[in-house]
Amino acid sequence: MQPIHVVGAGLAGSEAAWQIARAGVPVILHEMRPAVETFAHRTGDCAEMVCSNSFRSDDDQMNAVGQLHWEMRAADGLIMAMADRHRLPVGGALAVDRDAFPPP
Ligand SMILES: Cc1cc2nc3c(=O)[nH]c(=O)nc-3n(C[C@H](O)[C@H](O)[C@H](O)COP(=O)(O)OP(=O)(O)OC[C@H]3O[C@@H](n4cnc5c(N)ncnc54)[C@H](O)[C@@H]3O)c2cc1C
Repeated sequence: MQPIHVVGAGLAGSEAAWQIARAGVPVILHEMRPAVETFAHRTGDCAEMVCSNSFRSDDDQMNAVGQLHWEMRAADGLIMAMADRHRLPVGGALAVDRDAFPPP
């Protein structure tokens, strides 16, 4: 089976590669950092959080972003699993410990 190539190991690319691999399809994840820097990222880590440590509202009843969180959890998503593991107690928002967050 030919592998699927995912370009960019940010949040979206890392999640896409995870879901492709879980479906049993070979995947190659390409990332240019740290060889090539961006103006926003600070490391060469996959799934690096940019800027704040908040994924915004986690309210899946009254907020569209919270509904997306719910859907990503229902899909057994990697990013949500890591966010929940490293969650900080800040009320209704989904804020994470950004140093611990990037999946290994
Ligand atoms: C200044 C700033 C502040 C932000 N603050 C927030 C915030 O507080 N909360 C929030 O939710 N969102 C914030 N965002 C948005 C944030 O960038 C997105 O939420 C998130 O990073 C998007 O993930 P992504 O995977 O789509 O893109 P990115 O995280 O940008 O990932 C794209 C990846 O592709 C790689 N790449 C690009 N081109 C190539 C190539 N040709 N070959 C190989 N690799 C490549 C990049 O290095 C990068 O790793 C902010 C963005 C910026 C710029």
